[in-house]
Amino acid sequence: MNRNQMDIMACAAPDTVLEGAKTPGWMKRMRESHIRGFFVTAYDVSEEIDPEKLSEVKRILGEEGFDAFGIGLPVGHPAGLDTPRYTFHEGWHIRRDIEGRETPWQNAVTPRLIEDARKRVLILKEIGFPAMFWDDDLRMGNHEGDVQGCFCEACLEDFRESRPELAPRVRSREDLRPVLKKDPRGLSEEALTLREAWMDFTSSRVTAFMRETAVEGVKNGIMVMHNGDRRHGIDIPAIRKALPGCLFRVGELMFDDKSFEKPENRRSLAESVLRHMALMGDPDRIWSESTVYPHGALSPENLRRKIVLERKCGLFHINLMGVERMNSPAYYKMLRESYGEFLETGPSLTLENLDRFDFGAF
Ligand SMILES: [Zn+2]
Repeated sequence: MNRNQMDIMACAAPDTVLEGAKTPGWMKRMRESHIRGFFVTAYDVSEEIDPEKLSEVKRILGEEGFDAFGIGLPVGHPAGLDTPRYTFHEGWHIRRDIEGRETPWQNAVTPRLIEDARKRVLILKEIGFPAMFWDDDLRMGNHEGDVQGCFCEACLEDFRESRPELAPRVRSREDLRPVLKKDPRGLSEEALTLREAWMDFTSSRVTAFMRETAVEGVKNGIMVMHNGDRRHGIDIPAIRKALPGCLFRVGELMFDDKSFEKPENRRSLAESVLRHMALMGDPDRIWSESTVYPHGALSPENLRRKIVLERKCGLFHINLMGVERMNSPAYYKMLRESYGEFLETGPSLTLENLDRFDFGAF
């Protein structure tokens, strides 16, 4: 695929596809909107998604001429989002922040959690899913902020074992607190060493997740949140090194009209996309975050503008997240009518020229 082309995939729950198959005109509407396939929710921390149902969804989509990739929510999103409640397994635990508080609905990435996710990928391989994308809950920190991770006693002990030379300096989580601030300026060399070591440790877990859930025959991908980086355990270059063919999704945020309509937020969106793309490499393995959240919150017109902006950044795989929240025919009318404009919009934004682009007028 070259940069003058584009394709569109859409996220959908299995039930959405099954309902769609029974709804006259639904598949046709998706096809006419230039959607070529679906990311079907195939794993979440509740483990309640039935493989037989996924098999049925895969079959139906295939018959209708759509691609079907899997999408999984392995760790759990922060409280307040419409994330499923999870089932606990031995070897899973809720991530704890620097205050020692549980971060509701978010697990730490542990070997057992990785093993459980890998088992699901093996099932998806049998069903015939050619790719699996992990949603952007796959991280060890919340959006923005300081350096994070899991500061529970077990994880601190793992850190000390992995870096014995630094162990005497990390007797408790309080010893880490001074090195975690977002802006590292002013830290001593010693403090910077500890900070880097902690980010290496935290990131190594997410990287291990990606490496160990990669199963031959199923492409593995990670979705990165807006401005997601090593503070949150997301080390994109390390992931690429561990898994050279890795698929990525950039982080954009601005899921509703209120945030998207502020010019500074559109700039922030573009900057995050361009920074991520620079680290992720081949654009043919990179997807957008064209999300409407919550239901209908980003209007069809602003979704159109968002996709144009994504195209200006050089993205050509568009990922609509997800069709349940694009709950009006106007979205699909917009996709039909704007497809030509999307195709014609080539890459023009770079990190170097961002300041010269008028995000107010756009
Ligand atoms: Zn922990």
